[in-house]
Amino acid sequence: MSLKEYRKKRDFSKTPEPEGKRKLIFVVQKHAASHLHYDFRLEVDGVLKSWAVPKGPSMNPADKRLAIHVEDHPLDYASFEGIIPAGNYGAGTVMVWDEGLYSAYNSHSDSETEKLMREGLRKGTLHFILLGHKLKGEFSLVRMGNEDKQWLLIKMDDQYASKKDITKQDLSVLTKRTLPEISK
Ligand code: MN
Repeated sequence: MSLKEYRKKRDFSKTPEPEGKRKLIFVVQKHAASHLHYDFRLEVDGVLKSWAVPKGPSMNPADKRLAIHVEDHPLDYASFEGIIPAGNYGAGTVMVWDEGLYSAYNSHSDSETEKLMREGLRKGTLHFILLGHKLKGEFSLVRMGNEDKQWLLIKMDDQYASKKDITKQDLSVLTKRTLPEISK
């Protein structure tokens, strides 16, 4: 069952769980394809909006990491870790490098987050907060041109900002395996 369906099935007027409780997910999958990259994905309207980040995310606000906007992925893909066989699109090994919840900056509910993300995708500026195992705090994704697929992923300066290379934390958050261990 998708999170969307789960939410539809809840009657928030009859349960103590507030509608504003955050359930939107993000995931970063380290992907050893023809070129190693990190797929950064945010749940919006039942799909995973996706960017391929060649150098991976950074916690240093001075870094601006190129993020190529790629096709949406199904929500179920967020937990995929394993091998995409040779000959298939994206062939190679996939690790769930980080995952967690996210919300749009200054949003008060998931529905408000999704509205802000839809607007941001049109305008080319997204501002959000990640609550992952590795990635935490405020980030921005900024499009470099009007029609361009090229965006920049940037850490905003907050208490989680750091000059330490976060990509050195190199184990799956799902299985604690390295990429070579996953590809065995
Ligand atoms: Mn990929």
